[in-house]
Amino acid sequence: MRATKRIADATQESLHRIFTVAEAPDSTLGLLEQEMSQNLVGFLNNHIVASKNALTDIEQDFINPHIPEQPEFVSDHMHHLLDKLVAQSVHTSSPSFIGHMTSALPSFILPLSKLMVGLNQNLVKVETSKAFTPLERQVLGMMHNLVYQQDDHFYQNWMHSAEHSLGSFCSGGTVANITALWVARNKLLKAEGNFRGVSREGLHCAMRHYGYQDLAILVSDRGHYSLKKSADILGIGQENVIAIPTDEHNKIDCHKLADKCQQLAAQNVKVLAIVGVAGTTETGNIDPLDKMAKIAKQNQCHFHVDAAWGGATLLSNKYRPLLKGIEQADSVTIDAHKQMYVPMGAGLVIFKDPTSVSAIEHHAEYILRKGSKDLGSHTLEGSRPGMAMLVYASLHIISRPGYEMLINQAIEKAEYFAELITQHDDFELITRPELCLLTYRYAPKSVQVLLARNNTEANKSVNLLIGKLTKFIQKRQREDGRSFVSRTRIEVSRYGGEKVIVFRVVLANPLTTKEILQDILQQQCLLAQESENFLPELLRAAK
Ligand SMILES: *Cc1c(COP(=O)(O)O)cnc(C)c1O
Repeated sequence: MRATKRIADATQESLHRIFTVAEAPDSTLGLLEQEMSQNLVGFLNNHIVASKNALTDIEQDFINPHIPEQPEFVSDHMHHLLDKLVAQSVHTSSPSFIGHMTSALPSFILPLSKLMVGLNQNLVKVETSKAFTPLERQVLGMMHNLVYQQDDHFYQNWMHSAEHSLGSFCSGGTVANITALWVARNKLLKAEGNFRGVSREGLHCAMRHYGYQDLAILVSDRGHYSLKKSADILGIGQENVIAIPTDEHNKIDCHKLADKCQQLAAQNVKVLAIVGVAGTTETGNIDPLDKMAKIAKQNQCHFHVDAAWGGATLLSNKYRPLLKGIEQADSVTIDAHKQMYVPMGAGLVIFKDPTSVSAIEHHAEYILRKGSKDLGSHTLEGSRPGMAMLVYASLHIISRPGYEMLINQAIEKAEYFAELITQHDDFELITRPELCLLTYRYAPKSVQVLLARNNTEANKSVNLLIGKLTKFIQKRQREDGRSFVSRTRIEVSRYGGEKVIVFRVVLANPLTTKEILQDILQQQCLLAQESENFLPELLRAAK
């Protein structure tokens, strides 16, 4: 009995302490904090062990489903986190981690994130986010301006208007795409006569009212899977996301797009939206947005641009023209947590027309009252953190020319790497970088000669074998932990549109050097030699 009371008292006391007193500077957490704030890169280098543990091994560390019945000291728990979690994390900010869109963060982000978390504002409503709400609206305005370049008068009118919004800040590109298509759906199937709109009566009634056979979303076959998710939850159906073939540069074939529109119209299928991709996830290419805008206009459908990854290119005056036509889009998705060097959880969708969001407006009695400036009345998400502050700060601290430098240098580095690959006897460049993303594979000279000589049919087996080797090298390199490239399977027109396995590289980290890129190729050559079957078999085939 007494023991139970003692535990209760101790718990009570520690609860009070964790809400009122900071950990001592010489405690484990205090020391970690110092180390992190002095040198984040050093901290990560020190504490992330290039672990060769398989995921299934790591799972053994996270297998207990019981919520602890005894409080732990923060320091004890920190040791646990460091050993089990941090040590086995992925070093995404390492300059030799060039496989994904997630990369290094500028050092100011860490203390600012702490400030953001400390303030714990909830952007769903003004009552919990005074100052943060206007700030987020300004960020949406800045990003709107980046895409649409309206005059100051426009922004004075709309940026802080209760009934309008220039966009919707969200957790990422997926939610941004869903939001854009949600707006498109509700605008298309709006209230009319006795029909009170799809948002109130549902898709079934909407289709009956408008007399459409079906709805479709058109995007190139390089479109991101989040569009299928969107179609799924919006009741459109994944199979109604129609993939339009791409040309040899991975850009949508506009003739086929226009033909498809005609064909669907003849079947009484209404095209809900045409989606252009500005920076495809796999190859980094940009669709001909201006031509797509024209086709969307002709077919009177919503034109959305998924610039989740490539949108930041607009910050570069040099490369901005690659996205020409984006200003004709009805909506644009941009992820700040990709090429804008903001931590995970920052995406946006921007609407050309500030009244668009009224199509998805929701109200409630205790918050989001009509006429309030609550951001939550036109976001899919409810409670949301103040991530906009990090975008705001980054835009100020890095500035447009700073971003331009980062973007230009990344593209130029990708061009350098592509050149390196082309010059190297044992590598084959598969997709040339338009932005800072490229794909390639390991294929010794003699094999490349064989591929060039063979017809498509004969190349099938060779490509299959190279695919196995690519997979082998990529896995080994990941396990080795010193560097990382990702891999994907893409259709390659020079092999008759056959899907081949390739290395995929995203050059986002400003600290990645040319030497690192040279080393990565060298490592891959060595790893290829470790393959006991695939390489010898390939070389035999090429004899
Ligand atoms: C990353 C990406 C998305 C999805 O964004 P998340 O932030 O991962 O939800 C959508 N489209 C494209 C083109 C992307 O690159």
